Amino acid sequence: MIVLKSLQEIAKMRLAGKIVAEILALCQEAIRPGITTGELNKIASQYLEKRNAHSPFLGYPNSINPRKPFPGVICTSVNEEVVHGVPGKRVLHEGDIVAIDCGASYQGWIADSAWTFSVGKASAESLALLDVTEQALYTTISAAKVGNRTGDLAYATQFAVESRGFHVIREYTSHGVGRKLHEEPQILNHGTPGKGAPLKVGMTLALEPMVLSGNPETVVLPDDWTVAAKDGKYAAHFEHTIAITEDGPEILTKL
Ligand code: MG
Ligand code: MG
Repeated sequence: MIVLKSLQEIAKMRLAGKIVAEILALCQEAIRPGITTGELNKIASQYLEKRNAHSPFLGYPNSINPRKPFPGVICTSVNEEVVHGVPGKRVLHEGDIVAIDCGASYQGWIADSAWTFSVGKASAESLALLDVTEQALYTTISAAKVGNRTGDLAYATQFAVESRGFHVIREYTSHGVGRKLHEEPQILNHGTPGKGAPLKVGMTLALEPMVLSGNPETVVLPDDWTVAAKDGKYAAHFEHTIAITEDGPEILTKL
């Protein structure tokens, strides 16, 4: 069932969204060669605490291994890692790219957003990957309006990515978000226009293109969390939580 939110509920999600955006900005400021992904997690964790917010990621159940709930408040996915990277001792180096995925739960309402940053100076190939993925996010968001269906969102992502020679992930999806981190509907990164559930005012969605520069096949690493490109080529991830309003999509996770 797709849960529609009232204007008051969307206003609460906007507060959660602001916290998420602030955390991503703090991470962006901190990212430099030599920092570890665990240090970025600590920055995010301290800021959540300061704002009386909680992480919907921390302790998230692992579908592969029930003894390994997610240990961080952000996901840090480096280079060929696409999503769900576990923060820890890994040191970031000049030329790396790192996707930071962050959620915040504030007064019972959740927002979810991700950005991919370059560490130091990025290669032209990495910059193209980041640009394609970010543009795919905004193209997808612009399709999030009444009259369209979930398939239109999926197709918008796919076309924005494939028309520039990149590939979308097949196994992971955009999703509804609200009181829970993952609500219905699931929205693939590829699809058919005109198919799927109709979009309605009050839907709140975490739209998240996950883009691979090489073959779209992925593997889950031995930590049972990190999803990585099988061929080792770089991948990127951008995500915003949006609300569908009478006037079109509103991004809830922007600064
Ligand atoms: Mg996310
Ligand atoms: Mg998400």
